[in-house]
Amino acid sequence: MVNDPVTFYGFTAVPRDPDFLFKDHPTASGPKPKQDPFTVTDFPLPHSELVRKVREFVKAALTEQTYNHSHRVYVYGTALKRTHFPEWKYDDETYYLACLLHDIGTADRFLTTTKLSFEFKGAIVARDLILSLHGPEDQADSVCDAIVRHQDIFVQGGNITVIGQVLQLATILDNVGISVVASYPRDGWSECFAKVIETELRLKPWCHTSTFEVPDYKPGEPSRFATDVRGNEVMRQYD
Ligand code: ZN
Repeated sequence: MVNDPVTFYGFTAVPRDPDFLFKDHPTASGPKPKQDPFTVTDFPLPHSELVRKVREFVKAALTEQTYNHSHRVYVYGTALKRTHFPEWKYDDETYYLACLLHDIGTADRFLTTTKLSFEFKGAIVARDLILSLHGPEDQADSVCDAIVRHQDIFVQGGNITVIGQVLQLATILDNVGISVVASYPRDGWSECFAKVIETELRLKPWCHTSTFEVPDYKPGEPSRFATDVRGNEVMRQYD
């Protein structure tokens, strides 16, 4: 049994608004934020029987681009925590499971077969999967909560779980670290993700992803979100 499941499984409440989080931050604010000279080998992946089975499931369901994106999110999130939030404590395996599963709702077998928004479907699939593999309920819930909220990036009020915050920051940040890109190549990730967004908006104009779009968005209109994803200038040279 884990002593303090709230801390261990990454439920510790941290402010949701990144501007609030980084305001006057000792290492991350100002013109020259601290950058540790990490390489990808500084972030060995957690391993356990549960991790192995979840990875097998995810690898069979997702495109290679999404699978690699999920690993970059693990590395960026873990690096960000080590450099800027060393006081944040949580189980690396739980964060890794959240990373592996955060886009599982974009898999072909889920995206177009459900009317649920992809984050919500993915969160349910992830929770069911972890429980079916006899993972602890607290771990399944932490992963589920982080996935449900992982695209709520305009919300400023209140808090989010620490694992949810790291997942969001790392997803947005999927834009630095050449060694990470070498180990987990992007291979056209921006275009791949933009297409997923457009597919979901076409099939499910009610979906959560439409919160990135103009009010009363109609299928067929150009997507602001997909345009932004395609316009990721920082990563263009690696795509
Ligand atoms: Zn993602």
